Amino acid sequence: MAGEDRRAARVALFPLPFQGHMSPMLQLAGALHARGLAVTVLHTAFNAPDPARRHPGFSFVAVPDAISDAVAATEGGGGLDRVLAMNAAVEAPALAEGVRAVLASMLRSGEPRLACLVIDATLTAVQKAAAGLGLPTLVLHTGSAACFRLFRSYDMLYDKGYLPAQESNLLLPVKELPPLQVRDLFDPSKLPNKEILMKILNLANETTASSSGAIINTFEALEPHELKMIRDELADKGIPVFAIGPLHKLSPADSAAAASILNQDRSCIEWLDTQAPRSVLYVSFGSVVHVTRHELAEVAWGLASSGKPFLWVVRGDLVLGVEKPSELLPEGFENAVKGRGKVVEWAPQQEVLAHPAVGGFWTHSGWNSTLESVYEGVPVLSTPRFGDQLATGRYVGDAWEIGVLLEGALEREKIQRAIATLMEEKEGMGIRERARSLKEKARMCLESGGPSHQAVDMLVNHIYSLSL
Ligand code: UDP
Repeated sequence: MAGEDRRAARVALFPLPFQGHMSPMLQLAGALHARGLAVTVLHTAFNAPDPARRHPGFSFVAVPDAISDAVAATEGGGGLDRVLAMNAAVEAPALAEGVRAVLASMLRSGEPRLACLVIDATLTAVQKAAAGLGLPTLVLHTGSAACFRLFRSYDMLYDKGYLPAQESNLLLPVKELPPLQVRDLFDPSKLPNKEILMKILNLANETTASSSGAIINTFEALEPHELKMIRDELADKGIPVFAIGPLHKLSPADSAAAASILNQDRSCIEWLDTQAPRSVLYVSFGSVVHVTRHELAEVAWGLASSGKPFLWVVRGDLVLGVEKPSELLPEGFENAVKGRGKVVEWAPQQEVLAHPAVGGFWTHSGWNSTLESVYEGVPVLSTPRFGDQLATGRYVGDAWEIGVLLEGALEREKIQRAIATLMEEKEGMGIRERARSLKEKARMCLESGGPSHQAVDMLVNHIYSLSL
């Protein structure tokens, strides 16, 4: 009977072991598990999730990896170096072989039958290992639909002369990818590791082209045009596209804490409870961005001179080569903020953004942070640093108009002005209203019968069809 078949399928998932990739993959696993699919998460020893305590419904299998060594070798480099090292390390034959052995044993054991493997887009070697066993793969894209398109467009960007970027064309609109301008393109040309980056982008395209479906953590009302273009492009290859986001709201409620690699300091919630509604600026640059000592001081003085209460995440490795960056905060800063600021190493971010005291979010425009902010209707101060963050910052400022995009060097006066616009001035009123109205659209997408909700149904049906 079809119903019995539907209860008896298993999905294996293998995320890249970064917070920004791990979270959406585990959230997707939660959404699929809630629809009755059995779930096995494959993971590396590096940044391994904590299965026993946090995900009682899933099975976990470790695969051998050399990621710790690869990442350690980038000591002294920036966040991008780590991202690139990780992406290179997951292409190692030993890792693909390890995954192959795990999948082969799962296929042999039979019940519930293994329907497919869901992977990050750059795990091409792992995809090939699965294909060798006849196992279909689905690719989870953890960035926006806009960035999915952007990352597939680099040949065009070079062919048409947008790249390499020149001083003279930075403000030029990229008419094929509105509203992006040349300065929003992540330009590999000037990087010492340009070849590695281009290889990773090409691998991601290859993996998508060889997959049985693309899953994107976004929602129809946010990126309708971008999703249509992607669907048109992939339809030729017979690859369905599922826009199921924001994923953090499609999985069971405790998924945020469960997916966090670092321990969340919950004392900030008690502190927020003592603050006035919409008065606090929450500041966090995600899990991989680094700042210099000078930038740290500019951020601190910008916050101090804004006069606004703030909750600031100063991650343990926020400043490269410094063990406790919170001890680097400038002399006189504590006095200047006189108890109106709180600094933590890692926050329960989703809960923070949902707190009524939070009135703005200063972010690096990582995609998860952006979706979390959109879902709570919190307007954004965006200071993107690299990769897809640059394009997301442009969308925040110019397409959705739900935030202030602060470009160029971090300087205290510019920061102070941007915070004032975002949180108090008339100029920012429209921004704050649009953030609130986008929140409603996000919620409608997730309602029963809404597009994201339906997309999960379609994805589950698709997975069952793969296993038949
Ligand atoms: N995050 C968190 N606590 C913090 C800062 C960030 O839980 O103090 C989470 C945040 O909720 C988001 C993720 O870390 O889900 C960061 O992902 P994002 O894509 O925004 O940025 P990345 O870290 O990949 O640059």
